[in-house]
Amino acid sequence: MKHDIVIIGGSSAGMTAAALLAEADFAVALVEPTAGPEPGGALDKRTVALTAHSVQLLDRLGFPWEQRRYCDWRQVVVEEADSPVPLHFRAEDTGRASLGRLVEIPELNSGLRQIIAAQEIQVYQESAREMREQPAGVQVLLSQGQVLEAGLVVAADGAESWVRQQLGIGLTWHDYQQQAIVAVVTCNRPHAHRAWQRFTHGFPLAFLPMAASGAAQYSLVWSLPTAEATRLMCLSDADFITELQKNMARELGQIQQISQRCSFPLVARHALSYYAMKAVLVGDSAHTIHPLAGQGLNMGLADVAVLAEELLRARQRRLPLAHLSVLQRYQRRRQADNQRMQDGMTALQRLMGTKAPLLRVLRGQTWSCIERQPWLKGLILDMAFY
Ligand SMILES: Cc1cc2nc3c(=O)[nH]c(=O)nc-3n(C[C@H](O)[C@H](O)[C@H](O)COP(=O)(O)OP(=O)(O)OC[C@H]3O[C@@H](n4cnc5c(N)ncnc54)[C@H](O)[C@@H]3O)c2cc1C
Repeated sequence: MKHDIVIIGGSSAGMTAAALLAEADFAVALVEPTAGPEPGGALDKRTVALTAHSVQLLDRLGFPWEQRRYCDWRQVVVEEADSPVPLHFRAEDTGRASLGRLVEIPELNSGLRQIIAAQEIQVYQESAREMREQPAGVQVLLSQGQVLEAGLVVAADGAESWVRQQLGIGLTWHDYQQQAIVAVVTCNRPHAHRAWQRFTHGFPLAFLPMAASGAAQYSLVWSLPTAEATRLMCLSDADFITELQKNMARELGQIQQISQRCSFPLVARHALSYYAMKAVLVGDSAHTIHPLAGQGLNMGLADVAVLAEELLRARQRRLPLAHLSVLQRYQRRRQADNQRMQDGMTALQRLMGTKAPLLRVLRGQTWSCIERQPWLKGLILDMAFY
């Protein structure tokens, strides 16, 4: 089968890429072995906080928000165990209705599946097994023997990217030696669309509001050194709740219930090149980052938006989609931005975790200064939430 573009990996980044490229009239095929979990049941612990930009991108594709479960957050309180002054970031200070939108990954992916079904995008529910470069494109061999041909392959196959390995693209790698514990937590006070992030010894504990107005459910993301996370994962629910209650903000009230927990090792990866042969990387196949500021998928969606612009530009100039200048322009526009975000997160994570007395004083002063300076807060809001 011949297509303009074959996308390998059909989760959030891959499906968004497929929808955007099909909207621009490219003949697209998507390869994804899993059917994806069914949304709409109990709240799912795998959630992502989307920035205004990401929400706008999904709006542009006609994302069916009215049929999906999500929560807009209007305020974030950031606390630091050593500092008496919490930071308050409010949507009203930015002139926007919300700071971001929290959505469960199955809900997000279900909405994206609806979009690509309406666009009649060809989906192959198989794995990619082999890639062969041809003079005019790439051949992709699938697990059940199908052979696809395309001018360009887009890799959206996640952090352990099979495509990236086939292409021989190396990575920079930083193991934070931390794990993030995630769960759905129900408290006894409504969340009022407020998110909380509390740093204890530099490790962030986030409570992100979920579901409808008036609900008291939060998505918990607790990043901790691996040994401590392992200890907490082994506790009974009751003992885990006791530990959590000790560490979280009092304003959240009492925990009533907690879902099953799971944990993810935290590693920052960055591909040394975003392309090779006639293939490009987007999303987690190109980069992963500490979830501290909830930016991983937002960066992936920004990759996808830029790639779609560059492929449109190539078509207007009658260039092959995998022309070196096209791939280079895509890389130039995304790699440095993603590197800055990754460096920023690593630096912030180190600053918050420092035991050096001088740096701790500096951190405390910066903290109070941010709370008193609306322009500085505005700058941070724009960087983190837009
Ligand atoms: C604890 C935690 C909290 C986070 N919070 C946030 C947040 O608040 N905001 C945010 O923006 N990001 C957040 N992230 C990051 C975000 O979850 C990821 O960046 C995002 O889910 C990655 O999406 P993706 O589509 O690039 O990759 P994935 O979701 O990993 O999808 C890859 C897909 O490729 C498929 N695949 C793999 N191999 C093959 C193959 N050979 N052939 C075909 N298909 C294949 C897989 O089946 C899978 O469906 C968080 C991450 C963690 C760990």
